Amino acid sequence: MKITAEQVRGLAEKYRDSSAETLSTIVKIPSFSGKEEAVCRKIASMCKEAGFDEVRFDGLGSVIARVGSGPRKLAIDAHIDTVGVGDPTRWTTDPFSGIVRDGLVLGRGTADQKGGAAAMISAGRILKDLGYDGGFSVYFTFTVLEEDCDGLCWRYLIEKEGLRPDFAVSTEPTSCRLYRGHRGRMEIEARVRGISAHGSAPERGESAAYKAARAAIAMEKLNERLAVDEFLGKGTIVVSKIDVHGPSQCAVPDQGMLYLDRRLTWGETAELAIAQVREAMSTDAESVAMPAYEGKGWHGASYVQDLYFPTWKIPEDHPLVTGGRDAHRSLFGRDPEVGKWTFSTNGVAICGKHGIPCIGFGPGDEDKAHAPNEHTRVDDLVVASAFYAMLPVALEKSGR
Ligand SMILES: [Zn+2]
Repeated sequence: MKITAEQVRGLAEKYRDSSAETLSTIVKIPSFSGKEEAVCRKIASMCKEAGFDEVRFDGLGSVIARVGSGPRKLAIDAHIDTVGVGDPTRWTTDPFSGIVRDGLVLGRGTADQKGGAAAMISAGRILKDLGYDGGFSVYFTFTVLEEDCDGLCWRYLIEKEGLRPDFAVSTEPTSCRLYRGHRGRMEIEARVRGISAHGSAPERGESAAYKAARAAIAMEKLNERLAVDEFLGKGTIVVSKIDVHGPSQCAVPDQGMLYLDRRLTWGETAELAIAQVREAMSTDAESVAMPAYEGKGWHGASYVQDLYFPTWKIPEDHPLVTGGRDAHRSLFGRDPEVGKWTFSTNGVAICGKHGIPCIGFGPGDEDKAHAPNEHTRVDDLVVASAFYAMLPVALEKSGR
């Protein structure tokens, strides 16, 4: 059955209140990382009620809801865990109120990024209403544990569940712009070692504190000379923690650790970043390594990965970017603005690690993420739901 932009736009508008109500409902259910069971069960029941063709949980507990059964796979992803509320006195309304007021939905997760999830549920409903039977199986994924370890849920989907889409969309907030990448990141633990001695006679020892301090200054200098990419910006390094200790507070310390947050621009890899830190620390470096992370999902499974989140971008003229542009233009009569995120998303696993083409398009603003008084515009939910429903049609129309 032929689906037109006019039909999609009309239904997205028809479901305006329903989209806002869906977001309000899922914001009222707190879902900190690892504690997403209640919200996942609610989302699964909403997808079933909307008539999706298949709804299930994966091993970690992410919801996988499919519409259509075409030979190619399009995945549209929202992580549905959130960060904490921070200082509650900074909020003017209850973070879990889900109030819909003045064209906004209020509460923790409205921007980052349950708004994308609500718009996806409406998009699935629209595709079902219009009897979508095109060339794509459209997988709507509502994923877990992202705030603790971005991409882990998608590494699990690809590597363990065998869900390898041809194209993917992250619905993290873009203010309804079309994004095509962001910097990667990694965490690094650098250790220094000294020789302890009595605090009364420092000349007998070798201080891990001074080595750690020298290393910290070396990182400040390293930061200045990191690579720049015209689209993604500059690589950065930050010393986020220093810990030094020894046998007593009246002794020369013999152990030190620096924790480093490294943002990786285009062309920068984990191997390169570790080598740079080693070189900058010179002989003071005892070890420089990437810690591992183990995520345990509410549904029982665990998954382990390094704290490395590879950089990704796709070209401006990539078929997925062009398809996204076409979908937007057919719906709204103009091209979307194209850009990039400042923060990191599940795209690190989808595109950065596995090379699956990915774009971003999401309701709400990136700068509301992790901030007090988080909110998202209802208008954005309408635009995003239309975009997600139109994308498989636009991708197919132009033979992509
Ligand atoms: Zn997010």
